[in-house]
Amino acid sequence: MAKKQFKAESKKLMDLMINSIYTNKEIFLRELISNASDAIDKLHYRSLTDSTIEVDKSQFKITISVDKEARTLTISDNGCGMSQAELEENLGTIAKSGSFDFKNENEHKKDIDIIGQFGVGFYSSFMVAQKVQVISRKFNEENASLWESEGVNGYTLESTDKETYGTDIILTLKEDTEEENYAKYLEEYTIRELVKKYSDYITYPIQMEVEKKTLKEGTKDEYEIEKKMETFNSLVPLWKKEKKKIKDEEYQTFYSDKFFDYEKPLKWMHVDTEGTISYSSILFIPSHAPFDYYTKEFEKGLQLYSNGVLIMEKCSDLLPDYFSFVKGVVDSSDLSLNISRETLQQERKLQVIAKNIESKIHKELLTMQKEAREDYIKFFQAFGNNIKFGIYNSYGMNNEKLQDLLMFASSHDEKLTTLEEYISRLQDGQEKIYYACGESISKVSMLPQVEAVKEKGYEILYLTDYVDEFTISMLHTYKDKHFVNVCSEEADLASEEEKAELNKKNEDCKELFTLMKEAIGEVTEVRFTNKLKNHPVCLSSTGGVSVEMEKVINAMPTEEKVKASTILEINENHEIAKKIETLAKENPEELKNYSKILYAQARLIEGLPIENPTEISNLILSSLAK
Ligand code: ADP
Repeated sequence: MAKKQFKAESKKLMDLMINSIYTNKEIFLRELISNASDAIDKLHYRSLTDSTIEVDKSQFKITISVDKEARTLTISDNGCGMSQAELEENLGTIAKSGSFDFKNENEHKKDIDIIGQFGVGFYSSFMVAQKVQVISRKFNEENASLWESEGVNGYTLESTDKETYGTDIILTLKEDTEEENYAKYLEEYTIRELVKKYSDYITYPIQMEVEKKTLKEGTKDEYEIEKKMETFNSLVPLWKKEKKKIKDEEYQTFYSDKFFDYEKPLKWMHVDTEGTISYSSILFIPSHAPFDYYTKEFEKGLQLYSNGVLIMEKCSDLLPDYFSFVKGVVDSSDLSLNISRETLQQERKLQVIAKNIESKIHKELLTMQKEAREDYIKFFQAFGNNIKFGIYNSYGMNNEKLQDLLMFASSHDEKLTTLEEYISRLQDGQEKIYYACGESISKVSMLPQVEAVKEKGYEILYLTDYVDEFTISMLHTYKDKHFVNVCSEEADLASEEEKAELNKKNEDCKELFTLMKEAIGEVTEVRFTNKLKNHPVCLSSTGGVSVEMEKVINAMPTEEKVKASTILEINENHEIAKKIETLAKENPEELKNYSKILYAQARLIEGLPIENPTEISNLILSSLAK
C-alpha cells in the first residue's frame, strides 16, 4: 500500500500535536466526540430537509469502547460518515488552511492560542495515540474505507468492510512514560469523567459498556457480572440546565468547544424567556476578533436549535450587523424543525427573538462599560470599529442605539472616554463637542488648533481611526451638542470684539493675502488668525470635507478623489506676521517664496504630503543662507 504524504500544513500541525506543545492532552476525547456529534447533526439535518433520507433518530448515538490488551480506544458514531474521497480531503489536509497562515503571522502568540485558531480536532488524537485508524462508511453508500496513520510520515487509505454507516475512530495509545500515563484513557472512570467534564451538553447519548458487579444472592463472595450500556452525558443541553447550577468552567468549555476559541470570552449571557415566544439562549462576547472578522469571508450568526435539535449552523437573521461579533446558541420550541419551508409565521418569530437578543446584548455592553471598564476597553479595541461602522452604514438610523457604546481618546487624560463622560465634563458655557483627527494621539495632541482650544479649557476628542470622523459626521450631535472639528472654521472661540478686530485687520491686509494666495495656488483663502498660541501657521478646512477625510478618501482604491477646501491661517501675534507685512511692501518677490514655505509647513503639521518637496527645500535653504 502506497503511503501518501500529508499536505505541508497538516504535517506541521501534526508535528505540533505529537510533540505536544499542548499540555492538556485529555482534550482529544472532547474533540473526537464533538466531531462525532457534528457528523450525526449533519445526517439529522439532511433527513429533515431531504424526504428521501430516512433514519431512526432515536438510534443516534456515540459509542466508546476499549480493548485493554490491544491498548485501543474506539469512538464510534452513526452519523453521516465519509467516502474515501472525503476521508482523503478531510484528514489528509486541514480544510481551513487559511487559519494556518494566520498562525504563521502570529508565531509569537501563546501555543494555546494557536490551537484555538484551528479546527484541529482530529489531529489532537496524535497527542495520545501512536496509531490512528478511521473506518468510515458514508450514509447510503455500500463501500467503506480505512484511513490509517502513525503520524507525520503519512497515511494509507484502502477499501474495507463496515456493517453500518458512520465512523469508527480507533486509537492505539502510546506507551506509558515516566511523565505520562496514557493507559488511563482505557479506564471507564477516566472516560466517564472526561465526558462529564467536556461533553456533557452533547445532545446525543455518549455510551460505553460498563460492568456491574452484584453479590450473588445467598453467597458471600460470589459475584454476578452484568454488562450493560450506560450513557455518560446528561443529554440536557447546557442552555436548558438551571442557570444557578452551571459553573463558569462549563460555560467556558462550551464556548471554546463550540466556537473554536480557546481564549476565554469576555462575557456570557444566559437568557431563558417564557412569553409569547419562549426561547433559551447563551450568548458570548469574545475577547478578540477572529482572524477573518474584518473580511468578507466572515459570516455572522447564531446556532439555531428547535427543542435541542440543531436546525441552522449560522442563523444570520438573529444578529444585527453591528453585533456580528456575538457567538452563541438559541433554542426555541416555538420554531418548526423544517426551517427550509420557512413560513412568514416563522420569520416573525425569529424577528421577535432577534429583537430581544439585540437589546440584551446592548444592555450587557453598557453594564460592562460601567462596571468592568477594562473588559469593555478590550471589547472596544477588538470590535469598536464594527460599532462605528454600524452608525456610519445606517445613515444615522442607529445613532440612538449605538452612540453610548462609542469611545474615543480625549485630551482629558488621553485615555478612552465615552460621549456621556465628555458631556459630564463640559465647561460652563461650552456649547460644542470638540474633536481633532490624526494618525495617533501624540500627533493629534500636537496640532496647533488643538493647543488653541485646550488653552480655553475645553476638552477635545482625539479621533485616530480612519472611520472615526465619518462616524462623528453621521452622529452630528450628541445630547444636543454639535460636534466641531477644531481644524474647521466653526471652531472659532474668539469673542465678538476679538472677531471684529481680526476682521478689520484681515480687511486691511487684503492685498497682501491676494498676493500670497496667488503664489500658493491651492488654498481658498489666506488670513490672519488669533486662535493660535505658539504656532505660526495652521491649515483649516471649510465645507463638508475635512483635511483628514481628504486623506482617507484619497487613500481608498477608487477613482473618486476629493480635495478639502483649505484656508492658510497665520498667527497674527507671531513674528512671521510682521515679517510678511514688511515683505509685502518691500520685497513682493520674496513674499511669494515665504508664502510657499508657510503653506508647506502647515501641510506638514497636518500630516499631508507636499507636492513639490525639492522646491520647498531649496526655498528654505536659500532663506537660511541669507
Ligand atoms: P473540524 O472538526 O474543525 O472541521 P477536524 O480536523 O476535527 O476539524 O475534522 C476535519 C473534518 O473531518 C471535519 O470537518 C469533518 O468533515 C470530518 N470528520 C471528522 N470526524 C468525522 C466523523 N466522526 N464523521 C464524519 N466526518 C468527520
